[in-house]
Amino acid sequence: MTVSRLIARAMPWAGLALLLSCLWIADAGAEEQGKADVVLRNGKIYTADPARSVKQAIAFSGNTILAVGDDSDMEKRIGPATKVVDLGGKLVLPGLIDTHIHPIIGAVNGAKCSLAGVKATIDALKPVIQACLAKDTGGADEWFEAAQLDNYGFQATAKDLDTIEAKRPIALDGNDGHTVWVNSRGLELLGVTAETPDPPGGKIARDASGAPAGSFADSAAIFVAEKIPAPSVEEQAALTAAELKKMSAFGLTSLMDAYVSPTEAKVWRLLYDSGELPMRVRMAIYVADPSDDSDKAVSRLVAASKAGDVDPDFLRSGVVKVFADGVMEYPAQTAALLSPYLDADGKPTDKKGELYFDPERFARLVQKLDAAGLTVHIHAIGDYAVRASLDAFAAAREANGDRDNRHQIAHLQLVDRADFARFKELGVIADMQLEWAKREPATEGPLEPYLGSDRYRYLYPAGSLHKAGAMIIGGSDWDISSYNPFRAFQTGVTRAGGSGQTPLNIDERIPLTTAIDAYTINAAYAMKQDKTTGSLEAGKRADLVVLDRDILSVDPETIQDTKVLATYLDGRLVYSAAEDEGSWWDQREARMRDWLHRD
Ligand SMILES: [Zn+2]
Repeated sequence: MTVSRLIARAMPWAGLALLLSCLWIADAGAEEQGKADVVLRNGKIYTADPARSVKQAIAFSGNTILAVGDDSDMEKRIGPATKVVDLGGKLVLPGLIDTHIHPIIGAVNGAKCSLAGVKATIDALKPVIQACLAKDTGGADEWFEAAQLDNYGFQATAKDLDTIEAKRPIALDGNDGHTVWVNSRGLELLGVTAETPDPPGGKIARDASGAPAGSFADSAAIFVAEKIPAPSVEEQAALTAAELKKMSAFGLTSLMDAYVSPTEAKVWRLLYDSGELPMRVRMAIYVADPSDDSDKAVSRLVAASKAGDVDPDFLRSGVVKVFADGVMEYPAQTAALLSPYLDADGKPTDKKGELYFDPERFARLVQKLDAAGLTVHIHAIGDYAVRASLDAFAAAREANGDRDNRHQIAHLQLVDRADFARFKELGVIADMQLEWAKREPATEGPLEPYLGSDRYRYLYPAGSLHKAGAMIIGGSDWDISSYNPFRAFQTGVTRAGGSGQTPLNIDERIPLTTAIDAYTINAAYAMKQDKTTGSLEAGKRADLVVLDRDILSVDPETIQDTKVLATYLDGRLVYSAAEDEGSWWDQREARMRDWLHRD
């Protein structure tokens, strides 16, 4: 398929945006008289304002909220051109914000041969991969890539992969986002040998002789990535645009791309330039070597961040992303722990994982980045990685005072009890992937025996962090897990994936309002956009979602089934669930017209 066809197929919203902006132009002039373009009334407006007040109605004009209040307060906002919508009691939330997501990587992965839902054994993978290969038109020496391998517990060598395909080089991407497997032909083309050292922050799996065995973890995956030609920037933009449209349908209006290399920065810029982004985007610039605390390295990051500040509303940076460690699941066990992993029988091993940086040099780097005004967003899984990250933030605080950079630690799979209170003390924000906190093969089999019950008790300690006063924000880490925020809400409050499931550490649940804050006002604070978004208050941007159910009162085990009826971004309707365009709104509009002309 040609790029232009891909873009045309993937960007129908560009046409929609144009149509909508014409509609708004027709309404221009309403604002001068204090009249609203749109009034939503007879609803339940959860404002996420400082009092967490709930109102009936909201009025906005252009991209700005004019008023939030009772239905009667809105009379004076309604003019002849005002679109008035009867919400019929429906719940409205501020537009939802995903503070840790990989839209471009996820969209590109989505176009690869998908191994999602396939059992991670060679026997089960074989027919799926071979079917993809049969359809693929690539040449004999062209890399073939499959993604979303459910890799927890998956151990395979290049020779094992040869039984699936021996001639063409193949690569399988694990869905933990940290590991890639190749076959023998692939290994040959990579040119990695027994003499090739592990790169900083990565591991080459090796056989007894030290020769590469076929899998590459974390930054070592670069050996594979740099051999496989990525889709062009235009192709990546087209795939991402299609995905952003789906995100609007889940109520997302802002996001932070948690890994932006120069390529991702180009893709976002292209999307921005090619029309309006249907999303507010903040780009976290990837720090390749977190032990490099040189002034040169710092100024490179500052320059990359500045280049990313394109539009204060829609495309910004001001944040860098660092990996402190890897993943905790057996057999990878690359997450850094304070005390050793246990063996399958519960006896301590000599393995504790390793930090991906030198803690002293990293602390100096954070200090310099903080002084330069950048937010530092750290991937930390193990309790040692979390502690080292907090130590670096403490050093920055000590040297620079509070620079209001709203630093963040993401994932927080295991946090030592002694560190809970430090988040509040240091103003460090906890970026939780709430949907991960449930019992499933990915958390039980490869974790529980290897951590022991004392540590397992504090897996994803959202409740403990919340009680210790930490600010909690939410991110999906898609395409590791779904970006449906209502699944995160449900798991956050039930600690289970569905009804009848045994919760994971039920004491670590959080109140639903805390989960909502994590995707609205607190997320906006972390994104440094709380002056304009995150709550529904007069003067802020009109980013809001209308839901099909009142999640504040329904059975918590049905929250994940929530459907978004409408998403407004910057005052524009970017998503409407009505199949026959506008019907849900039109019915209510008709009723409202009757109501207005009731005399
Ligand atoms: Zn991530």
